[in-house]
Amino acid sequence: MISHHQDTITGIATAFGEAGVSIIRISGDLALPLAEKVFKAKSGVLLQQIKNRILTYGWIENEGRTLDEVLLCIMRKPYSFTAEDIVEIHCHGGVYLTQVILNLVLDAGARLANPGEFTQRAFLNGRIDLTQAEATNDLIQAKSLLELDLVINQLKGKLFQRISELKNQITWVLALVNADIDFPEEDQIFAHRDEIDERLTSANSDLVTLIGSADTGIKIREGYKIVLTGNPNVGKSSILNGLLEESRAIVSQMPGTTRDTIEESCTIGGIPASLIDTAGIQPTTDVIEQEGINRALAAVEKADLILWVIDMIDPSFESQLENSVDLSAIPTIIVLNKSDLYGPETFPVPEFLIKQKCITICAKLDKDIERLRDEIYQQISGQGQKLAEETMLTNLRQKKSAEAALISLNQAKDTLEQGFGQELLAVDLSQTLQALGEIVGETTPDEMLEQIFSEFCIGK
Ligand code: GDP
Repeated sequence: MISHHQDTITGIATAFGEAGVSIIRISGDLALPLAEKVFKAKSGVLLQQIKNRILTYGWIENEGRTLDEVLLCIMRKPYSFTAEDIVEIHCHGGVYLTQVILNLVLDAGARLANPGEFTQRAFLNGRIDLTQAEATNDLIQAKSLLELDLVINQLKGKLFQRISELKNQITWVLALVNADIDFPEEDQIFAHRDEIDERLTSANSDLVTLIGSADTGIKIREGYKIVLTGNPNVGKSSILNGLLEESRAIVSQMPGTTRDTIEESCTIGGIPASLIDTAGIQPTTDVIEQEGINRALAAVEKADLILWVIDMIDPSFESQLENSVDLSAIPTIIVLNKSDLYGPETFPVPEFLIKQKCITICAKLDKDIERLRDEIYQQISGQGQKLAEETMLTNLRQKKSAEAALISLNQAKDTLEQGFGQELLAVDLSQTLQALGEIVGETTPDEMLEQIFSEFCIGK
């Protein structure tokens, strides 16, 4: 476990930029004495006399010069975010001003906090477990109500509780096994065999359910990847813009991650999604165009849903797509576009696509984009909406540890069934506990903890 920090840290807790208010947070044993050096209450009250969670009006002063009019709040340990003494200075939100006040606190003796260090301290001081720490960061980055529901459950400790219950079942069995090792004549395993089987089976089914929830949990957090693909000029960009239209207000625009793919975030019926517009896929001898096509194909391979757009008046099913990607493995909607230019006759969909979901639209009509949106919603909602109410694993780290726990648990069941002996059983069960402990941060390697917290923003 990484060592508990003794020094007092500070950081700007609010976002960088001009705003009404900025908050400078100080955490550690010296939080109050350090704040006292820069803050003077208008009433003349000393910081020691100020009650917890009360805003006190005053001034930031340095060598006789008044720098700002502020409110100050004290949260004494253990009733604070970090479980240490915390002082928050709510100053005016000027970029320069906030920096000047931060520098004063640093000069007074605080150290600049690393990214995520306040949350790391909350974790190290046992106020929250690792899943709650991760939820804190996910809450800040959430892009949809569905994700908020999921993350709030985790922040309230529901995942921690579920893992704790699993650990209790395994610990109970391990205690019997250890008793058998110490006092073989009592044969506790034989005496409690039915209950042991029952607990291991129930733990197994709970773990399988949790692991099954991970893919949906991760997608709700990261967004379903919906890739628009097809030949150039078939209407991909028009469809992308049409789909983004309604959700424009909540869209966070991201520059294309590669030169030729454009990625935009939005929600479809409340489900977070990334719409990825790719370079037109067609045979080419142009090296640069081929590179764009390679990137498009790479995006298609990672898609949760493909929208394969076909121009109805100039249909071409000769793209490289079906040669490069196993379409049956990725949900695909064939979007027959430009229906306004096509006559009343039925469009001939080729045999190899007959089983795919197919929709005919005119990208210029709002009502058609609406139908397409509904179709996408049907495809991606699946079980996502239902499960978001419950506990889910929400990242790959948690999923990998849960999978390791399941492997050890199944080994334990085999060892028990085949009568391989208590020592081996104890090892399998201990490994299960170790892997479960990793999910909540009890047995997580230090390097992994450092990595997790380094991805947090500064001041959190
Ligand atoms: P992309 O190259 O696949 O992204 O295609 P664009 O979205 O740029 O569209 C190519 C051209 O087709 C543009 O001139 C669009 O205005 C036009 N277009 C797209 N969808 C439709 C449609 O449903 N009907 C008609 N008539 N034109 C369309």
